[in-house]
Amino acid sequence: MSTTGQTSKWHLAALGELIIDFTPAGTSEEGGALFERNPGGAPANVLVVGSRLGLSTVFIGKVGQDAFGEFLKETIVEQGVDTRGLILTEEANTTLAFVHLSEGGERSFSFYRNPGADMLLHIEDVDEEILKGSYIFHFGSVSMTKEPARTTTLKAAERAKELGKIISYDPNLRPPLWDSLEEAREIISLGLPYADVLKISEEELEFLTGHKDPETGSKALYEKYNTPIILVTLGPDGCFYRSGERTGHMPGFKVKSVDTTGAGDAFLGGFLYQLIKSGKEPSQLDENDLNQAVRFANAMGALTTTKRGAIPAIPSMEEVNKLLESY
Ligand code: ADP
Repeated sequence: MSTTGQTSKWHLAALGELIIDFTPAGTSEEGGALFERNPGGAPANVLVVGSRLGLSTVFIGKVGQDAFGEFLKETIVEQGVDTRGLILTEEANTTLAFVHLSEGGERSFSFYRNPGADMLLHIEDVDEEILKGSYIFHFGSVSMTKEPARTTTLKAAERAKELGKIISYDPNLRPPLWDSLEEAREIISLGLPYADVLKISEEELEFLTGHKDPETGSKALYEKYNTPIILVTLGPDGCFYRSGERTGHMPGFKVKSVDTTGAGDAFLGGFLYQLIKSGKEPSQLDENDLNQAVRFANAMGALTTTKRGAIPAIPSMEEVNKLLESY
């Protein structure tokens, strides 16, 4: 681990939603659809990936003081995530999301969040010591869909940036959570100036820039926001990356995918692990570092699609190394 990574109390802090994903789990004997209770929330998933790979991680967010909230806290504690920044509130219930899987394994969601506890994160709830003590601060856009969490997310990112932290951002567009797509575009864009590492899907890139092509779209983002690292994830095709004028494409690994839930989080957690391990600032990564980090991230993402759910599907270091060596 790098000197800076090593001297920080935590390698990785993430702020955002921690929710229940009810994923389809067949039918009962009577023929009724069954749903399995899975922990969800992209920022927490990224931390669990980090913990699985040996990083020290800490979560900032809010869940309901209810059975689901308790379950979520227990789950991430078990996974080695520090929960000192997690608040259990009686103000609202834990948010629930029902996941619907198409035959190809693509996901769609229905959310139960009127309001959900995750939306009620106030800036006063964010412990400055966590921001100060972390090497990387990660956030997404689900925590920006509604106030007060929207302002809290942006203020925390701004503060972490002022403190000189590396900022990681995954816009993670979830249309049903926004009042309108115009609002989503406007607010998601507010997070872009902070990002040192931006992970974005092809669809999100087109949504934000109007460009479908990763080369053109990432160039538009780079020119506007000066983002040091842009990672455009391409599902089974792997990842296109941009670091300034340098770009590259790293093909994906061929695996038997059953559920893509958590693939993007595993990918990003894997990339951040490699970034920390390099001991370099994002802008200092050379072509070799980038190729290696993105290849590792692709392997993490690919393996995560081979099992159902997000956290249960995150691979171990051993499994990733095995896949990397077999290619
Ligand atoms: P997200 O989950 O954020 O929508 P992707 O679906 O693009 O992002 O997945 C993130 C990464 O996971 C990809 O860049 C790729 O490395 C890996 N991945 C995703 N789906 C597959 C797949 N079907 N086969 C192999 N790798 C995959």
